[in-house]
Amino acid sequence: MKIAIVGAGFTGLSAAFELLNKKNEVFIFEKDNQPGGLAIGFKPLQTKDEKEWNWSLEKHYHHWFSNDDKVINLAQKIGYGIIKKRPKTSIYSEGKIYQLDSPMHVLAFPKLPFIDKARMAAVLGFLKFNPLWKPLEKLNAENFLLKTMGKNAYKKIWDPQLKNKFGEFSKDISLAWFWARIKKRTPDLVYPSGGFLEFADFLVRECEKKGAKFFFNTEVEEIKSAKQVSVKYKMINGKSSIINFDAVIVTLPSIFFTKIAPDLPQKYVNKLLKLKGLGAINLVLRLKEQFLKDGTYWLSICDTKSPIMAIVEHTNFMDKKNYNNEHLVYLGNYLPFDHRYMKMEKDELLKIYDPFLKKIKPDYEDSVISSELFKVPFAQPIIPVNYSKIVPPFETPLPNVYLANIQQVYPWDRGTNYAVELGQKVAKLVTSNE
Ligand SMILES: Cc1cc2nc3c(=O)[nH]c(=O)nc-3n(C[C@H](O)[C@H](O)[C@H](O)COP(=O)(O)OP(=O)(O)OC[C@H]3O[C@@H](n4cnc5c(N)ncnc54)[C@H](O)[C@@H]3O)c2cc1C
Repeated sequence: MKIAIVGAGFTGLSAAFELLNKKNEVFIFEKDNQPGGLAIGFKPLQTKDEKEWNWSLEKHYHHWFSNDDKVINLAQKIGYGIIKKRPKTSIYSEGKIYQLDSPMHVLAFPKLPFIDKARMAAVLGFLKFNPLWKPLEKLNAENFLLKTMGKNAYKKIWDPQLKNKFGEFSKDISLAWFWARIKKRTPDLVYPSGGFLEFADFLVRECEKKGAKFFFNTEVEEIKSAKQVSVKYKMINGKSSIINFDAVIVTLPSIFFTKIAPDLPQKYVNKLLKLKGLGAINLVLRLKEQFLKDGTYWLSICDTKSPIMAIVEHTNFMDKKNYNNEHLVYLGNYLPFDHRYMKMEKDELLKIYDPFLKKIKPDYEDSVISSELFKVPFAQPIIPVNYSKIVPPFETPLPNVYLANIQQVYPWDRGTNYAVELGQKVAKLVTSNE
């Protein structure tokens, strides 16, 4: 079959790899100049005196859990190196940092009475060992956690994290989403050597060896399905062309799919548009000194007044020598794309974050080399109760046009592991009638 894939994120790359293994002719269209999608990386533009980084860094923090078997197996299959480590995960609560990444640390947490900690540990233990998500998807995370953990633990630790992550949607989140976060979390984390961009590039080269044709800097403008599926695309020089295919796999968030497929029936479009999501914004600080001095990699901010959701010090996970000995810190938020932060330049945003950062490291400004700001419009689906009833299928109303995107990852929280799995599944479906 001659198959087009729209998007060279990990869903598209994984689908391409599978289809090529089955000897299909595969074309991949990507509007960016590089592969990787939401997990894409960058190297900063260096001044004359700076050495180039050896590794690229993700525009938005990324790691794998050690049980992310689909993506880890793919890396191993193509001979790509991975690194496994146990970095420190902590929370920021009432002006202090507390390591909170094991049952022992939960029990040692000084800000809650023992009985609340024991209740919290019991609830987390239940979620960790319960294999069944279906009965949980009917329940609302906030109601369940409040009732089972009690007000103290919920309000101190979980309510600020849900509010900081989901904002106005925090009350809608299903317990199945929370369950997935607890169930999947592993103390050991994994990272592709060289960064996610290098890994994506390696995968592109593997696909090219098998005959794939990649079109970077090429935006798909329109998909129409008749006897064959026509894909109209625009290249960087502004020229548009059309190629016909036997099947097309679209990996964009649903809202962008509706924009390039004008013949989709309105009823289907309305269903897709009911699925909500948030964008993401990350300000990356390049520093001369370590920011989180206790070595924390991931710091969840349990303070609803904080302008930042999480501080992630990448170089407390991966060695700073890969980045010309710079210390790299993400200041992350998930936000609706019309939020005022999304319209700001990096200096404006840093001004807002600055008083909070000074609470953690009063002199951090002295060590700033530079900063980079990255925004994406769709990064985190909102998972309300009974999401399984509204997840769209791979098949669309347009014959031979398939949708495989971040909003179909369920019950697990989206991630590159599930992008790889989606790619594998949709590839199997597309070729099942051959
Ligand atoms: C802040 C943040 C933190 C995250 N943390 C992690 C983590 O720690 N671990 C993890 O595994 N995952 C993490 N993820 C999630 C992970 O990045 C995604 O789940 C995954 O990359 C989705 O891959 P995808 O291929 O489905 O979609 P995308 O990556 O969105 O790929 C879609 C591609 O389509 C392209 N495109 C869009 N429109 C067009 C068009 N018209 N024509 C052609 N191309 C087009 C886009 O440029 C993009 O490359 C994180 C994401 C964010 C934003």
